[in-house]
Amino acid sequence: MSATPEPASSAHHQPTSTLSPATLAVAAGRPPRVQGGPVNPPLVLSSTYVSQGEVPAGELFYARAGTETWHPFEEALGALERSVHPALVFGSGMAAIAAAMSLVPPGGRIVLPRHAYNVATSYAQDLGRRSGVALTLVDVADTDAVLAAVRGEAGPDGEGAPGVASMLWVESPTNPMLEVADVPALIRGAHQAGALVAVDNTFATPLGQRPLSWGADVVVHSVTKYLSGHSDVVLGAALSDDPALHALLRGYRTLHGAIAGPSEVWLALRGLRTLALRVQRSQANAAELARRLAHHPAVAAVRHPSLPGDPGHDRAAAQMDGFGSIVALRPAGGAAAADAVVAALRLWVPATSLGGVESSLERRRRFPGEPASVPEDLLRLSVGIEDVEDLWADLSQALERTTGAGPEHAPAA
Ligand code: PLP
Repeated sequence: MSATPEPASSAHHQPTSTLSPATLAVAAGRPPRVQGGPVNPPLVLSSTYVSQGEVPAGELFYARAGTETWHPFEEALGALERSVHPALVFGSGMAAIAAAMSLVPPGGRIVLPRHAYNVATSYAQDLGRRSGVALTLVDVADTDAVLAAVRGEAGPDGEGAPGVASMLWVESPTNPMLEVADVPALIRGAHQAGALVAVDNTFATPLGQRPLSWGADVVVHSVTKYLSGHSDVVLGAALSDDPALHALLRGYRTLHGAIAGPSEVWLALRGLRTLALRVQRSQANAAELARRLAHHPAVAAVRHPSLPGDPGHDRAAAQMDGFGSIVALRPAGGAAAADAVVAALRLWVPATSLGGVESSLERRRRFPGEPASVPEDLLRLSVGIEDVEDLWADLSQALERTTGAGPEHAPAA
């Protein structure tokens, strides 16, 4: 934990606000209303602050410990996640993940979805090498198996996993397989067993689900994705309602220097203002494209929780507000066909990452770190906010050109 005093959060944070998320995204984190004052928080570029004598808690003194440009974003994200504390902004999603996993003691154990974001898994494996942290990989959609693994009963492959896990890591929907976990049940069960629960809420966004309100100990985000929304910054965030955990996460950030530049955070707040509009539009586009793809003869499989036949549909409908904007697509013809579809697209951007206003896609197994259980031919589509007809025209011409198969008529929605 940091020994240095930390700047206090501003009075604008309202965890009990009754405002809707769309309104909070616009209204939270504004400067005080004073005659002639700015409507937007200013971008302050200063590494240090005037200060002499003893530094009282809550004062700005050095920008590694806190800056006034972080606070409005932290307040707004804290309000959106209905957290009792402001969010803590980090230099990347991975920095936030590292901070959250630092809560696992040396020699402890993390239970992690087998299809979690692959660099999060690599980080947990690295913790294993450096501090003897054990890792149990699970199918996060199988609630009984996850909780058995948390309790330290036999692992999924019949391996013994002795002792209660220190932490259950949850991603839902998972990246890139879009499995949907019963997040409230996992949190309850893991707490009964005595494990902490951390949820990566990047895919769902706080508009889709608020895991702290289900009792999660920590929530992390890659702010790089939907929260900033324009593919122009790399940032992360971590939140906790527990004062001790919040202090530990903040202390980790200061001691490890895992901090964000003020310019990036200023841009992220500007992006956050339109979160609700962007997410509504991209989710609607994703659901419509998934519906059409499910009827396309050049498609072997498609997953999106909006599809009535999707294994995660009922759960997502029960626990989420919206089905998200990522679609998992397996074109007929295997990995070569998938690469050819990517190459034939003109509007969709071939790129990694997700959550920008522009639609993008990639074949995930091109990364050596991607788990072997992710199919070689799986394309992860990050659906943006363009006109859905333009997105469909580009996607269907690429599928047809690659496989020679034309679309059947999808029934009207
Ligand atoms: N969590 C998820 C679900 C992600 O998809 C990513 C990045 O792709 C991360 C975390 C890591 O975030 P960052 O790239 O901002 O470090």
